Amino acid sequence: MFFHAHPDDEALLTAGTMAMLAAEGHRVVLVVATAGERGLADIQPGEALGETRLKELYKSAAVLGCARVECLGYGDSGLSPKGGVAEERPDNAFIDADTEEAAKRLADILQEERADLLAIYDPAGGYGHPDHVQVHRVGRRAAEIAGTEIVLEATVNRDPLVRLLKLAGRFYRFPPEFDVRTFESAYSPGEAITHRVNVRRYTRQKRASMAAHTSQASGGDTDRTLAVMLKVPGPLYHLVFGTEWYVRRDLPPGARLTHPFGQWPE
Ligand SMILES: [Zn+2]
Repeated sequence: MFFHAHPDDEALLTAGTMAMLAAEGHRVVLVVATAGERGLADIQPGEALGETRLKELYKSAAVLGCARVECLGYGDSGLSPKGGVAEERPDNAFIDADTEEAAKRLADILQEERADLLAIYDPAGGYGHPDHVQVHRVGRRAAEIAGTEIVLEATVNRDPLVRLLKLAGRFYRFPPEFDVRTFESAYSPGEAITHRVNVRRYTRQKRASMAAHTSQASGGDTDRTLAVMLKVPGPLYHLVFGTEWYVRRDLPPGARLTHPFGQWPE
């Protein structure tokens, strides 16, 4: 089971792994906490955007071979323009949800599915979106309640990312609001990563999963992450999106596994 905050998060972080597991015959279930109704888009944020984004999520899930998709129906907490928690947010915002209550709802699905594995985010929530941090908290607790044995925290190896950005900074002037230093604390350092999953065989599905989120790829005034990533040309795409990273905290940091169900020591 893969637990994400908003529709399209599955495409960026775990799509290759999901497609791989489905191809191997596993039952893959995708759960999102919110419909992402406060994402940037051409249409007004709100209920209509939530509906559109859920439709895109079903499309993405179908491409990846998911057997079931659920939305817990919490409100998208949004992001303040400066980053961090938006002051104006819906009454049922995911970040204001009671962790225990939300975890019980997720645990019910874990138990119903007799899930062997739950994928969530690292404690920093990747780049720090409050809903992503909440996915970590709620997911951890849900796995405890349901007794789910394997918990993987989807992340990105930030070492090559920071190296690349620093190199790029010598030739390219980043916009003033862009600060390479924020990436030095985002996601995870290479040494903390326990799983490097080669998903090159599934980059076609991963790309199609990203492309399914049309509203996020084209919406807003600025280039969205997804739009930028979809512009990556085919051969390079393999290189950039051919690996997905996870941290499993009950394994030693030196563990180097290549499959979500891998045993350590191998
Ligand atoms: Zn998100």
